[in-house]
Amino acid sequence: MSNRLYIPGPLTVSESVIKAMGRPMVGHRSKAFVSLYNDMQPRLQTMFFTKDPVYLSTSSAWGVMEGALRNVCRKGVLNCMNGAFSDKWNDVARRCGRPAEALQFEWGTPVDPAAVRKALASGKFDCITFIHSETSTGTLSPIEDIMAVVREFPDVISVVDSVSSFSTLPIHKDRLGIDILLTGSQKALALPPGLAIVSVSERARERAKLSADRGYYFDLIEFHDNHLKGMTPSTPCISLLYGLQQKLLEVEAEGLENRFARHLRLNERMRAWGLAKGFPLLPAPEFGTRGLNCFRNARNADLERLNETLKSRHKIVIDGGYGKLKGKTFRISNMGDETDETVTRLIAALDDSFAEQGM
Ligand SMILES: *Cc1c(COP(=O)(O)O)cnc(C)c1O
Repeated sequence: MSNRLYIPGPLTVSESVIKAMGRPMVGHRSKAFVSLYNDMQPRLQTMFFTKDPVYLSTSSAWGVMEGALRNVCRKGVLNCMNGAFSDKWNDVARRCGRPAEALQFEWGTPVDPAAVRKALASGKFDCITFIHSETSTGTLSPIEDIMAVVREFPDVISVVDSVSSFSTLPIHKDRLGIDILLTGSQKALALPPGLAIVSVSERARERAKLSADRGYYFDLIEFHDNHLKGMTPSTPCISLLYGLQQKLLEVEAEGLENRFARHLRLNERMRAWGLAKGFPLLPAPEFGTRGLNCFRNARNADLERLNETLKSRHKIVIDGGYGKLKGKTFRISNMGDETDETVTRLIAALDDSFAEQGM
């Protein structure tokens, strides 16, 4: 038996998905492929709460995070930063030669809509990036309030990362007016890594047409032209698409509302466990994300020893803190396929492993 992963991605992939991924190949220009693509499209649109197309990119999330900027940023991008991934996006924008400005918030605090309004009012930006759920700190930013501000600036294209929040709670893409909403396969969806899923507004595609140096692999116009034929621009990882289709069927069988409720319930259970054990959340509880919890290591537990015990006795792995938070926080995922039963086992394993070091 392999270790069960509670790190915030990649997660343990279910047997049903692994089985689906083992299906035989089809040509990526064949009728069978077009049926696969077109079967998934409306299901994906439901999950994105959108009528916009949803494109499938065989890349990790960073592919479309970088690609989106190459498509829609001409004048300048405002990068809202409050953790490792959102901070990095500013670096990526600069590496792509885009004029990029940092709007920095302390790690573990959310993006502040008033600060966004002030920055956008400068008129320097034609796009904005923010991360709904900053996985490195377990912090959820107030997406409704941020998007209300962004909508005050009609020239600003919004690019929103929902890698660790997608399908853990509703994100109403069309109602909020999000132009580009993206997620990755290995986190909230508990698929293997290597697939990015992105829904793109017509406004964003119009902007992309003006961007001469948007490249090829992540060209939103290429994605759209192929989308209209039920295809992707280049040969995708078809196995991953089989896995995605299986996941979409499972999400539908469970029901989206039930899925949201399950994530909330399991997330609350883990939070209550942490608090009772003397580990408060890093963010203020109202900004804690729902697919994982980032606990402050307030009791100075030896996290490496903890993970050794978890692994050797229970075949479980958690995360001992990301980047500059290593050792100071630990993160436990409840994304994907976790159930009341797996969380009960996880809590028992954690209690046993903390007890091993007298806690
Ligand atoms: C993991 C993660 C990414 C990067 O995903 P890759 O699949 O490694 O490219 C981006 N944003 C957030 C919020 C993440 O959690």
